[in-house]
Amino acid sequence: MSVIQFSFWKYILSPKSRIGSVATPTARHGALLCIRWPDDVTGYGDLFPWPEFGDESLDHQLDALNEGRVSAGLEQTIWLARRDAQARQYSQNLMKGLPRVRNHYLINDPDLVTDAELGDAKKMGYQYIKLKCGKDIQKELELAVKLIKLRGFQLRLDFNSRATPADFHTFMQKIPEPLRQKIEFVEDPFPYNENLWRSASQLVALAVDQEYHRVPWETYTEFSPPPFKVIVLKPARQDTVKAREFAHRFRLKMAITSSLDHPVGVMHAAALCGEFKKLYPNMILDAGCFSHTSYELDQFSALLPPKGPYLSDVTGSGVGFDQILQALPWTKLRDLE
Ligand code: MG
Repeated sequence: MSVIQFSFWKYILSPKSRIGSVATPTARHGALLCIRWPDDVTGYGDLFPWPEFGDESLDHQLDALNEGRVSAGLEQTIWLARRDAQARQYSQNLMKGLPRVRNHYLINDPDLVTDAELGDAKKMGYQYIKLKCGKDIQKELELAVKLIKLRGFQLRLDFNSRATPADFHTFMQKIPEPLRQKIEFVEDPFPYNENLWRSASQLVALAVDQEYHRVPWETYTEFSPPPFKVIVLKPARQDTVKAREFAHRFRLKMAITSSLDHPVGVMHAAALCGEFKKLYPNMILDAGCFSHTSYELDQFSALLPPKGPYLSDVTGSGVGFDQILQALPWTKLRDLE
């Protein structure tokens, strides 16, 4: 009898501040999965639901898995865990031989950012700052101008679809033209709408992240491409093969990011990013995988100390963390045939 055996270990991440424009600073629940395949290889993946973006709860997804039903998020978890398993089989680290991609600096909560922190980020070599916007547009506008003008950063602004088209236009028009060129892109200004996005794209380059699933990809052609220039790709949440096809077809760039998830998820995203950078160096922009410092330190993130805009290497096979993963008190799901 050949079965796939699933085990899980639930964890809690404690945010240091409000994270994501729609999240409140409450503990976030996820689970690591340990998956053993019939060909006798074992790999690890991360399941980190965002109910704010419509995901089913962690318990719901685990219960469903117990009954043989796989959520879209779990499909990615399993696919990434399989990559981990194949690397572990040969005791190889997934990052081996891959270029390291620089990350942007993430500001989750503009209220909490300090001058000292920005000075440090500059000194450490960050060139891009990702600023979560959409809560207090006036304040964010002031910070954006300050980051460009006084600190010399380039910006990625992420509205998480929370701006109105009017707010967005006001925001952009208040940033003088020379400074606007320092905005690399604006991510998900508002819910996807062909005409509204096309009009917004006259002011600044747009990127699609959470709105990715609302894009009517099949209606676009090489000669009539979508109204954005960048796909923000989260390997934890999107089919990466399909996204890469879209990027090729429509000549889009990609910024690969974590899902603000567990360090195991962070390293999965980083490995995929390195792989894509090696294959398509001109397509891959600075990454957004350096997100674990948004949470209180734990035994995993302790192995990823801040090191400028690059992630530290984690020793071990696959995504690393071998000893910690082996020592976790795993709970078995019913074996699935
Ligand atoms: Mg986003």
